[in-house]
Amino acid sequence: MSDRDFGEDEAEASPLKGPRIPPEVDGIQVNHCKSPQCVNFSYPASPNRPYRRNGTPSVFGDYIVGTSNRDTPSIKCAFCNEKSPIRSNQAIAEEYTRLGNHLYRQVFEPSCKTEDCSMREVPLSQAGSQYIAFGKTSSGTQRYRCLECKKTFTGAQKPTSGQRRPEKNRDVFILMVNRVPLSRIVETTTLSPQAVYDKMEFIYKQCRLYSGAREAKLLESDFILPKMYVAVDRQYYLINWLKRDDRRAVQLNAIATADLKSGYVFGMHLNFDESAIASEIEAAAAAAGDAHLTPGLSGSTHGFG
Ligand SMILES: [Zn+2]
Ligand SMILES: [Zn+2]
Repeated sequence: MSDRDFGEDEAEASPLKGPRIPPEVDGIQVNHCKSPQCVNFSYPASPNRPYRRNGTPSVFGDYIVGTSNRDTPSIKCAFCNEKSPIRSNQAIAEEYTRLGNHLYRQVFEPSCKTEDCSMREVPLSQAGSQYIAFGKTSSGTQRYRCLECKKTFTGAQKPTSGQRRPEKNRDVFILMVNRVPLSRIVETTTLSPQAVYDKMEFIYKQCRLYSGAREAKLLESDFILPKMYVAVDRQYYLINWLKRDDRRAVQLNAIATADLKSGYVFGMHLNFDESAIASEIEAAAAAAGDAHLTPGLSGSTHGFG
């Protein structure tokens, strides 16, 4: 990247341009100098570059926005010349929410389901004596009766309800975390491949519920985090191509964070968003005309996404 690239932005600067850096989202603004020794460290770039004469000393938040090629806009610190690529705060905020959403799960509470009943959707904890325990279903789920409408409803189903071989869950879990290949798990457990996949899904869900229930305590206002040393490391996984006509290998990255003393793993954060469907996003980007815009820079309403 040459300094001439950075100079162009100044020459083109005009009040009609939009903000130079992506706006702050949920208190997140990462577009600042990343050098801890620099006085400009952590001061985000000002959204609009104020006009200053040549030779005026730099102030906090001074950066020069530039692009070396059209794909990677970046900011250059006016104090230490450190360059950092412009990042989308919105994308970071979305990723932050995705990685932490198991901590904010809704607690399931049974309630009356009868239409027109005055107790409809009133949770068990607020129903007083209007709900009474009323035996159990054949699968062992607690049943309740609403005294208002005299109808019954059930509590949360057991996590394993609907499973034909719940006693195999533990085996599948142990084999999986010991890196036994899927075909060997099928052979060892005598389950069908589909049943093994279903159990993997089930185990994933239960693990998230488990760590969510434990780690939600960390967010409570009266929780005092002890002094600890955390170790962070990164792993990458190469995934084979999925389609014959697109044989590119896919690389996924994960960052793990563990407490040095206890070995407790706070997170194993994989950069894979299962809710994102590539074809839908590509279609939406094409419809919005994103291909004709400069990524991350002004004049684009979608460029920061
Ligand atoms: Zn700097
Ligand atoms: Zn009712």
